[in-house]
Amino acid sequence: MKKALICGISGQDGAYLAKFLLNKGYEVFGGSRDATTNNFINLKRLNIFDDLKLVSINLTDFRSTLQTINKIKPDEIYNLSGQSSVGLSFEQPIETFESICIGTLNLLEAIRFCDISIKFYNAGSSECFGNAPNGACDENTLFKPKSPYGIAKASAHWQVVNYREAYNLFAVNGILFNHESPLRPERFVTQKVVKTVSDIAQGKLLKLEVGNIDIVRDWGWAPDYVEAMWLMLQQENPDDFVISTGVGHSLREFIQLAFKCVNLEMDNYLIINQLFFRPTDLEYVVGNPQKARNILGWSSNHDLEWIVNEMISNKIKL
Ligand code: NDP
Repeated sequence: MKKALICGISGQDGAYLAKFLLNKGYEVFGGSRDATTNNFINLKRLNIFDDLKLVSINLTDFRSTLQTINKIKPDEIYNLSGQSSVGLSFEQPIETFESICIGTLNLLEAIRFCDISIKFYNAGSSECFGNAPNGACDENTLFKPKSPYGIAKASAHWQVVNYREAYNLFAVNGILFNHESPLRPERFVTQKVVKTVSDIAQGKLLKLEVGNIDIVRDWGWAPDYVEAMWLMLQQENPDDFVISTGVGHSLREFIQLAFKCVNLEMDNYLIINQLFFRPTDLEYVVGNPQKARNILGWSSNHDLEWIVNEMISNKIKL
């Protein structure tokens, strides 16, 4: 039985990946900064809480990282941990940098120290690319990040590449574009839209206030994306992959689809508030998933209308 350690198991991707790996027959260990106080709500929502071995691990603390890996001796480690909000990274740049960069570096060092045959997946991000209005980004597109989060992810990306090249580690980056699900926290604009539109439909709220709705993103379905993480670690050679749908939609379209699900007209409820604009925001970020299609045999299975529908119906059910 293969052993996997998922750091950041309490988050959206951690929960879906844990379920995916359990179905594949893995023994799954889940790391959280404090496994004794975390309520692991996402794991309970997916009905997998009792099937996991949960451990406290603080990736910014080398001792904690090393000890955990030494004790579990996993075959695969998935690093999904760290401050993950672009907006919040402008207010907490140091926390963002430390949790992403020091966390990744500690994991790489601990693997080098304990056992270099452990396979390592790192959660990269499309935010590394910055604005890319001239077309879809692929694995060769230059990084020009425009947020503390993007800068931290870019740094972690190159740490992984460096350890792969310098020490022969099986270490890979998944450069994932936005992916959504009912488990997405409400601090993200997509979940905020879904929650507010559901509340408006149920007569609990009157207006939806957001910032720039002309931004274009490449939105996929989170459960599809965790499969790509696993596939990357099953390849013969370690490599980095863009994981995306290849299709861009504006936030305006996302909001329109959400209102359409509840048979309401967006223009009657939408307020644009300058307070929600970011110091620097990306106008257009779309990924080219061709390499993942060719080598991993992976492709995204759900379009945006289906995703929004699923998120709205899930919220209304709650
Ligand atoms: P979440 O925010 O849902 O989960 C991240 C987890 O990291 C948290 O549950 C938390 O677990 C842990 N964590 C460790 N340090 C911190 C910190 N300082 N602040 C907040 N959380 C911290 O992220 P997702 O599951 O959505 O994403 C997984 C990874 O993929 C992240 O690294 C994210 O940046 C990246 N990513 C996500 C994308 C998306 O669209 N979802 C797109 C591209 C990349 P605990 O409290 O238990 O320690």
